[in-house]
Amino acid sequence: MLHPPPSKRRSEGAAGAAADRAALKPLVLVVEDEPALVTLLRYNFEAAGYEVATALDGDEALTAIAERRPDLVVLDWMLPSTSGLEVCRQIRRKAETRDVPVIMLTARGEEADRVRGLDSGADDYVTKPFSPAELVARVRAVLRRARPSTAEEALDYAGIRMDLAAHRVARNGRAIHLGPTEFRLLRHFLEHPGRVFAREQLLDAVWGHDVYVEPRTVDVHIRRLRKAINAEGEPDVIRTVRSAGYALDVDEA
Ligand code: CA
Repeated sequence: MLHPPPSKRRSEGAAGAAADRAALKPLVLVVEDEPALVTLLRYNFEAAGYEVATALDGDEALTAIAERRPDLVVLDWMLPSTSGLEVCRQIRRKAETRDVPVIMLTARGEEADRVRGLDSGADDYVTKPFSPAELVARVRAVLRRARPSTAEEALDYAGIRMDLAAHRVARNGRAIHLGPTEFRLLRHFLEHPGRVFAREQLLDAVWGHDVYVEPRTVDVHIRRLRKAINAEGEPDVIRTVRSAGYALDVDEA
């Protein structure tokens, strides 16, 4: 055989394989200053099919969230410098992270603390010590509530509305006509607004694992998508992240 079968070619190498695996897994950011607990949670979340990012303090957490919007944050209350409560408030204050679900971890079990935690904007609250299996189950439940996107009829972000049932797209009320690939590309972005995707990840999510497509093909379709959705004078909603990939993102001026 002169060439490997198409489905094998793009997955060659560790980086390709990692991108393949990471493509559709929900990203959980674990914010915790005890390394042993971080290790335990990483192990359990990865075993349950999640991609895991970690931060050891509140400032690191806020930087990580700004760089790559997670699908959910597991946030320890007691952190050095910026507390978990303050991190949660800051997540809720910013438009681009307002909808990210937060599960607060804490050693405090009193009702008043529970209320303070939920008041800061946390979606759920788990008291230490807890079993990792219980936490994973709580994460799953919160994600299910937060993102019933497969059952949703429409996706909305930054004035862009995608009607999934009717297969129609509009921006600020203006109808937009997209080819099938651009439609799937935009749908993927709308399901993960603010999150940066590498070309390989977009290929897996939009074209599928078994198709051999040059990563540069992504650039072509991104260009078409931009042309279709950005009218004269409208801000570009697709952000090019140099040497990383693309994200659906609006700059807050
Ligand atoms: Ca702690």
